[in-house]
Parts: sequence; structure tokens; C-alpha cells
Amino acid sequence: MLPDKIMPLKVNIRMLQRESARLEGTLPVDEVAGELQDELVRFVSPLSYDLEAAMQGADLRVIGTLQAELECDCSRCLKTFRQTMQITDFAALLPTEGEEAVKLDGDFADLTPYLREDTFLALPTNPLCTPDCRGLAAKASARDSLPEEDVKTGSEPVPDPWEALDKLKL
Ligand SMILES: [Zn+2]
Repeated sequence: MLPDKIMPLKVNIRMLQRESARLEGTLPVDEVAGELQDELVRFVSPLSYDLEAAMQGADLRVIGTLQAELECDCSRCLKTFRQTMQITDFAALLPTEGEEAVKLDGDFADLTPYLREDTFLALPTNPLCTPDCRGLAAKASARDSLPEEDVKTGSEPVPDPWEALDKLKL
């Protein structure tokens, strides 16, 4: 990754005291997923955000939507697939005073850690290529109990029960 795209999401809280602000843009993968250690989930797009920031007394209120494209490995069958992660109800209420206060750099509050935290929580912990993926092991062990149509999709040759009957007749 090139370092020229590093631009954390910062808001000027002094400006927000006069009027609320719409924040729209993207955060580069390195900013969002630098610490991501998940073998099954990878970011294939920046995190895009569409947020409304406003001051509510001494609190900074941020609400909006986060979205990113993910590449996942199915936790059951290991197939790689793409998935859109979308948080439509992102909401943060950050005090600007007191012990729990958001870290300020002059008048600027960096929202990046909060976006990162919610994004991590929204990532799939057991990604599935389809909600009913049977996986590799399940496919083999469940073969006997499956209807014939499903069994035929397997890669191994399926024994034909009629063949066995024909042999009996002969
Ligand atoms: Zn799968």
C-alpha cells in the first residue's frame, strides 16, 4: 500500500458547534484493517462512509452508514467468495469533556478508531458462501440421508439402485 492515501477521518468540533456536517468519503484499507488478523476475511475495498456529525451539548454525535467489500473463505467448504459488509445504523456519542473524552488534536477529533471498532464487530466470524452451505465433511457424511438429486451433484460416481435390481432379475 502506498502511504500517500493515509488520511484519517477527522472532524473539527469547533465548526460542529455552529452547524452539523455531512462526512462522505473512504478510508484506505490500511487505516481500517491494519490490525486485522483474520485468515477467513480480507478487505478488497476501502471502507466508505456516509455520516452526519453534530454536537449535542458537549457530546459529539455521529450517525450514518459504513460499507466495504470483503473477500471471505467459507468457514465450512473453504470456497472464496465476495461479500458486502454494510452497517446502516452506525451511531457514536462521544463526549468531548471529562474522563471518557474523545482524543482531540487541537479542535479535531479523529473518528477513525470508532469506525474501525464497529467495522471489526460487523465482520463475519464464520463466513458462509451460502447460508445453508453443507461444507466438505458434511457433504460426505450426509450423503446416505440426502435425496437422490442432491447426491448426484457430488463428484464421486453414484451407485445406481436400478443397476443392482437388474442384476438381481438376471
Ligand atoms: Zn461453503
